[in-house]
Amino acid sequence: MIGRPFGVPVDVTPTWFIVAGLITYGFAGTVERAVPDIGSWKYAVSLTFALLLYSSVLVHELSHTLVALRAGLPVRRISLHLLGGVSEIERPAETPGREAGIALAGPLVSLALAAAGFAFSSLLEGGTVGLLLTRALVISNLLVGMFNLLPGLPLDGGRVLSAAVWRVTGRRHTGTIVAAWVGRGVAVVVLLLPFLLAAGDPGSLDVVDVVWGALLGAFIWVGASQSLQHASVQRRLPGVTVRALTRRAIPVDVALPLSEALRQAAEVGAHGMVVVSAGGEPVGLVVEAAVRAVPSERRPWVPVGDLSRRLEAGHRLPADLQGEELITTMTREPASEYLVVEANGEIYGVLATADVERALTRA
Ligand SMILES: [Zn+2]
Repeated sequence: MIGRPFGVPVDVTPTWFIVAGLITYGFAGTVERAVPDIGSWKYAVSLTFALLLYSSVLVHELSHTLVALRAGLPVRRISLHLLGGVSEIERPAETPGREAGIALAGPLVSLALAAAGFAFSSLLEGGTVGLLLTRALVISNLLVGMFNLLPGLPLDGGRVLSAAVWRVTGRRHTGTIVAAWVGRGVAVVVLLLPFLLAAGDPGSLDVVDVVWGALLGAFIWVGASQSLQHASVQRRLPGVTVRALTRRAIPVDVALPLSEALRQAAEVGAHGMVVVSAGGEPVGLVVEAAVRAVPSERRPWVPVGDLSRRLEAGHRLPADLQGEELITTMTREPASEYLVVEANGEIYGVLATADVERALTRA
């Protein structure tokens, strides 16, 4: 972690250092051509360029983060990696307008930095280190801004397209699907671009361009595919309610043998067990995986208390919870089973995480 601007931790992944090294090495030649009498200072200037370039990426990410924070969405962290950066926003925006605003903030700031750098460069003298670095920054911010505006997910432009389709159709997942498929198209174009540019003259094909095209193309393709998976979850999410997925549960005493508990459960068609105290208060949940692990001949000798987990405060869910809110709550307090209670405190049943996962991913 390199800092906490606006309370958001900024992480730098190890791949970043590799690229910073490559940029420093690669750009030194350009520095020498632009300022011939620079000598070995060219590496210092080149390193400065690498740091400025990633500062530009950081400013880009901070722009997304600030707009998200202003919209009331917490940001877990910003990470800088091989191909740029990412702002990890904890919740999706509630409206297409906010989604588009968060997505646009990054590229707009990058383009504004490029414009400001361009204006500043006209004040500088030719053949100086200052002009060289300013020009390099103009070009890198221009590239960061324009590349991210390509209209496919996972890029910012894809998020804007997705928000626009969401706005028009009223369905968030339709926006995600459209923008993710455009993203796959963008990935293929980026991958083929070095070959298309060299089509007229095969000798001009540069292996470095091919590698970058492949890296960026793969990065976009993988991101677009993840968005498509996410869209199918988004589509099912509104229909996922605690009430519909909860298993009927019976209250059991901690010392009750498993075989007897299973018999009682089968009698009333229950598929969950809640360990209750002598006063009837729920104190634990019997873990289904633990039950299944006990061979049938052992079941008369194992008390259900041995197969249960103590009930934590976060593992009680209200029966009316549903959709996005349900997933957020479960992610915050992960467990294999949850106790579901009515508003009046009455036990409604047991919600198994496996059932929720099945409901979100079934074909
Ligand atoms: Zn961005």
